[in-house]
Amino acid sequence: MKKFALAGNPNCGKTTLFNSLTGSTAHVGNWPGVTVDKREGIYKKLAEPISIIDLPGIYSLSPYTPEEVIARKYILDEKPDCVINIVDATNLERNLYLSTQIMEIDVPVVIALNMMDALEKAGDRIDEKELEKRLGLPVIKISALKEQGLEELMSRAFEASGKERKGQTVLEDSALKHLISDVRIALAGQGVENPLFHAVKLVEGDELEVAAHKETLPMIEEFKKTFEDDVFGTDFEALIADGRYKYIAGHFSPVLKKKNKEKFVESRSDKADKVLTHRIWGIPIFLVVLFAIFHLTFSENFLYLGSIFGLPSLEEAGLLTAEGDPINYGVKWLSCIYDGAVYSPGVILNNIWNEMIVGELFGLIQGAVESSGMSSWAVGLINNGIIDGIGAVLSFLPWILTLFLLFSILEDSGYMARIAFILDKMFRKFGLSGRAFMPMIMGFGCSVPAMVNTRTLADEKERTATIRVIPFFSCGAKLPILTAVAGAIVAYFGLGNADLITYGMYLLGIVTAILAVLLMRSTTLKGETPPFIMELPAYHAPQFKNLMLHLWDKAKHFFKKAFTIILASTIVIWVLTHFSFNWRFLADEEINESIMAGISQLVQPIFTPLGFGSQLGEYGWVFVVGAIAGLIAKENVIATFSTLGACLAAVAGLDISGLDIAAESGVDAVQAMIEATGIGVPGLLAYIAFNMTTIPCFAAVATAKAELNGKSRFNWTLLFWLVTSYIAAAAVYTVGSWPWCVVLWLAALAGAIAFIVIRGRKNVKRA
Ligand code: GDP
Ligand code: MG
Repeated sequence: MKKFALAGNPNCGKTTLFNSLTGSTAHVGNWPGVTVDKREGIYKKLAEPISIIDLPGIYSLSPYTPEEVIARKYILDEKPDCVINIVDATNLERNLYLSTQIMEIDVPVVIALNMMDALEKAGDRIDEKELEKRLGLPVIKISALKEQGLEELMSRAFEASGKERKGQTVLEDSALKHLISDVRIALAGQGVENPLFHAVKLVEGDELEVAAHKETLPMIEEFKKTFEDDVFGTDFEALIADGRYKYIAGHFSPVLKKKNKEKFVESRSDKADKVLTHRIWGIPIFLVVLFAIFHLTFSENFLYLGSIFGLPSLEEAGLLTAEGDPINYGVKWLSCIYDGAVYSPGVILNNIWNEMIVGELFGLIQGAVESSGMSSWAVGLINNGIIDGIGAVLSFLPWILTLFLLFSILEDSGYMARIAFILDKMFRKFGLSGRAFMPMIMGFGCSVPAMVNTRTLADEKERTATIRVIPFFSCGAKLPILTAVAGAIVAYFGLGNADLITYGMYLLGIVTAILAVLLMRSTTLKGETPPFIMELPAYHAPQFKNLMLHLWDKAKHFFKKAFTIILASTIVIWVLTHFSFNWRFLADEEINESIMAGISQLVQPIFTPLGFGSQLGEYGWVFVVGAIAGLIAKENVIATFSTLGACLAAVAGLDISGLDIAAESGVDAVQAMIEATGIGVPGLLAYIAFNMTTIPCFAAVATAKAELNGKSRFNWTLLFWLVTSYIAAAAVYTVGSWPWCVVLWLAALAGAIAFIVIRGRKNVKRA
C-alpha cells in the first residue's frame, strides 16, 4: 500500500485533514503540539487504498524537539511515497520555511494550501499557479475544515507518487551555493541517500548529522574555511536560515495579494489578548472562567437567580403531592429544570436524561425482572448488581459530556494556548515549562492520552514529574465520585453548593499537583527547565464539527467501558458482597457476613487517619471497597456505591428503592452510606481527595509504565501516588475535623517549602 505523510507546522490543520481524509476522529486542537506521535489511517477514494500518516507539527527539520526528530526520521527512513506538505495560507511565509527544507529531500512532495476558506474570507488572494511554478512542486488549494479540494489534492499526490523526484534547494541562489554543492557531491560519491538534505544539514552543523557522518566532517571544515560571511561570520545555521527567508520573501511571498496592504490593523485577536493575557488579570480571569464552567455544569442555582429573586420551590407552589412527587407529567418536566431556583444547563440535561429516559427505562426493566419469577439471587444480581451499578455510571453521561464540551470550546477557541503562555512564568518557578500545561489540561478528560502527550516535553525529568501529577487533574471517570459525594453533602447536611464543592475539589487536585512538582523538581527530579516557545494561534469560533467529533468519541468510549470492564467489575463486587464465605446467598441487611466485608474489614483500619476507616464502625468498609474497585476503573467507585448503598439503605431502614439510587446519580446511595456509617463532611471530602490523588485506573497505570523511563521510575511513581493520596486525604480530614489543625498543616507546609527553597539556593551556589 502506498504511504502519504502529512507534514506541516503546528496548528496548520494536519489533523483536521487527516480526519477528513480517513474518517477518523483524532484529537484536533487549536493548540500547537496536540499530535505528538504519528498516526495512521486509510484513504479509500482512489483506485487503491492509501495509508495516510499524520506527523507531529514542526517548524523545521532541525533536531531541537522530539517532534522534529520524529517527523524527520519518518520522512528520511520510512520513505513515504509522497509527502503532503500542509501550508497554512494565512501564514504563508512562515509555513514555507519548512517547505524549503522538505523539498531538499529526494521524495515526491505536494503542497496543500490549507485554510483557503479563512484566507478568502479575509479578502486575500493567492496565485497558486504562480506559486506552483516558482516552487517547482504541485500546489493545491484546500480547506481541510470545509472538506474542499481534498479529492484533487489526493489525485495530484497520487500522480506525484508515481514519479521519482530529486531534492532541490532554494539555497542554490545564495552565497553558500558552492559550499553546499561541493558537500553534496562528496556525500553522493559515498553513496549517501538524500545527499542534498544531508549536505545542507552538515553545513548547518546539525547535531544529528554531525554524529552520523563523522568521517565527512574534516572535509567540511576544510570547505568552510574558504567561506566567511560579512553579517553572520561563520554561524552557518543562521546563515542558512537567513538564506531561506530571503528567498521566500523575494520569490514566494509575492504570490499573495493582501486586501489591506500596508495598513496595519490590530486584529480582534490582538485586542482580546490585551485583556485575556494581561500580566496581572490573566490568571484571575482564568480562574473565573474555570468557575463559570463548573457553574454551568453543576449548579442547582444557575446565576443565583433563585436567591436573587427569592423564587418559590415546587412544594411551596403546590405542585407536589403529599409524597413529594410531581402532580402531573408537565410538572415532572418542570422539576427537571426548576425547583426554587433555575438549574444550570448541565444539571437540566442530567435531570432529563435520568428522570425521563434512563430512570423510566430501568424502572421498566427492573419491574419486569421482579415479576418474572426468577430466583431471588438472580433478581438481585440483575436489578441491584448490574442495573444499579451500571445505571449509576450511565447517569453521569450528560455531566461528563457537558464538562468535556466546555473544555473543548476553550481549547478549540485558542484560549487554552494563552493560558499556557500566561502560566509559563509561574510554572517555571515550580520547575516546569508552559509546555507541561497541555498534558495537564488533557488530564481533565482522561489521563491516558495526557500521559502520552508528555512526549512533547524534551527534558526527561520534567516529563516524569508531569506524568506523576497528571492523575491529580481529575479525569472524567472521577467526576461521578465528586458529584455524588458533593450532591450527598448538599442534600444530607444542607451544606454549600454542589458546584462550589466540585470546583474546590478540582482546585485541591491542582494545588496538590503544583506542590508535588515543586517537591520533586527540587529533590529527586532536579533538572533544567527548557525554554518554552510557542506561537499563539489566532482565536476563532469553535468548530461545531470538531466539538461534535470530540463528544461522540467520548460518549462511545464511555459506553464501551460501561458495558465491558465496569459491567464485569460490578458483577464480581455484587457476588462478593452477597455471598458468605460458606456460599450462602445473603439478604441486603446481611452484607456484613459477606466475603467482601470479611476481607475489607481487615484493611479498614489503615484508613482511620483519613476519616473513612475504623471510626465508621462495622459498615465503614464499604468506602474501602469503593476505593479499591476504583483501581480498575474510577467509575467503579460509584457503581460500587450504588450496589452497596441499596444494601445499606435496607440496614438503616431507609425507604430508598434501587431505582432511585441508579437514577439519582449516586446521591441517594451516598446518603444511605452516610446514614449507616455516620461519616461526616470531613471524612467525605477526604474520601474524594484520596480517590483523586491515589493510584489511577488500570489503563493509566499501564500507560505510565510504558511512558516512564525504567522500572524503578515506575515503582517510585506507584509509591508516590500512594503516599500523596494518603497525605492529601489526611490533610483534608484533619483540617476539616479540627479547624485549628489548619495552622499545623500550614506551618508544616511552610517549613517544607522553606527547606526546599533554601536547599535549592545552596545548590545553585554550588553550581
Ligand atoms: P494540526 O496541529 O496541524 O494538527 O492542526 P489541527 O488539525 O489540530 O487544526 C488546528 C486548528 O485549525 C483547529 O482549530 C482547526 O479547526 C483549524 N482548521 C484546520 N483546517 C482549517 C481550514 O481549512 N479552515 C479553517 N478556517 N480552519 C481550519
Ligand atoms: Mg495535530
